[in-house]
Amino acid sequence: MVKDSKYYDLLGVSPDATEAQLKTAYRKGALKHHPDKNAHDPSSAEKFKEISKAYEALSDPQKRQLYDQYGEEGLEQGGMGAGGMSAEDLFSQFFGGGGLGGMFGGGMGGMRDPGPKKARTIHHVHKVSLEDIYRGKVSKLALQKSVICPKCEGRGGKEGAVKTCTGCNGQGMKTMMRQMGPMIQRFQTVCPDCNGEGETIRDKDRCKQCNGKKTIIERKVLHVHVDRGVQTGTKIDFRGEGDQMPGVQPGDVQFEIEQKPHPRFQRRGDDLFYHAEIDLLTALAGGAIYVEHLDERWLTVEILPGEVISPGEIKVIRGQGMPSYRHHDFGNLYVQFDVKFPESIQGPPGQDGFPTTMTPQQVAALESVLPPRRPQAVPPPDAMTEDYSLEKVDPMQEGGRARGAAGMDDDDDEMGGGERVQCASQ
Ligand SMILES: [Zn+2]
Ligand SMILES: [Zn+2]
Repeated sequence: MVKDSKYYDLLGVSPDATEAQLKTAYRKGALKHHPDKNAHDPSSAEKFKEISKAYEALSDPQKRQLYDQYGEEGLEQGGMGAGGMSAEDLFSQFFGGGGLGGMFGGGMGGMRDPGPKKARTIHHVHKVSLEDIYRGKVSKLALQKSVICPKCEGRGGKEGAVKTCTGCNGQGMKTMMRQMGPMIQRFQTVCPDCNGEGETIRDKDRCKQCNGKKTIIERKVLHVHVDRGVQTGTKIDFRGEGDQMPGVQPGDVQFEIEQKPHPRFQRRGDDLFYHAEIDLLTALAGGAIYVEHLDERWLTVEILPGEVISPGEIKVIRGQGMPSYRHHDFGNLYVQFDVKFPESIQGPPGQDGFPTTMTPQQVAALESVLPPRRPQAVPPPDAMTEDYSLEKVDPMQEGGRARGAAGMDDDDDEMGGGERVQCASQ
């Protein structure tokens, strides 16, 4: 009957095989010899190409007829020989894209592919406040998803009314030919009979509810448990709650927890970091600071007179951090202090009613409690000294130059604060 049975032999079928048998044989062979699965065996790659070439020819009725009558030569003369679709392209068209990785990884595929497949996973980043993570909560999240149309049960129309498209044999793609002078050009195109659906249905038989699409969009509410102390990046899966499509397993829904930034606290692991600005008097002579916690409690922290808090110093309140996930203890609360120095210290009003500088008595009072002056350098006894006075720096005029000097720029302290907290906690 046929001139050459090579293509049939490659697929392991007889020359009178039906289209369905060819399809099954190709699927088996292509999966077995796919290069991704046979990295150690280079001959498999060749075999994979041959199988794909054979199936590409035999699955097209016109090409199959040419091959049966004239063999490979006939295909080549008809302009349909080698150099058509690559083996990988054919494979992904057949199996729904993404090669083996996509397929076995449960990637999204076309609806008409017969392989063991699953609809894609719906990912959603769930942003949660630090307060909610501290206390734990259940978030009710609504989701729009595709479900199998209940009216037609996913057929798209009345029972028996949906037919496999004859124009493309249900592939959705079609090889078209075009005469260009002496050449016949061939190209793959979306089947015009079924618009790539692989199926046809008469308008009057079309399901009224899904309009033949087989699925409808449904709103579903999922209850996402935000556990106490959960970390950013934690993933919560709802198996089978994703999109439904005819012929494939329903997809999953995955929520990823992301903590929103907090105006008062930074979080690292189970520890909290808090920035407290205190005045110089509190830093030296003591006082209270108040920290509004995440559960509406206010923590009162006493700074003792003479404890002396240095600018940038970090203290810890044990056990007042975040609840640790799946344990029963808590992290720590680290407080970094920013000490606000007064602009200047003014004494009592003088005779003209304007404030004076500090009085000798006030200076003496400070000298009585603070450590003695320690000059940063002492000139030798025989050195020549000259007197100068300090002036305020006008940032508008010399800001650029003054900024370079250490300690001249207040902003440096504030910006570096977070980083220093990080280092100190380790
Ligand atoms: Zn329907
Ligand atoms: Zn078609």
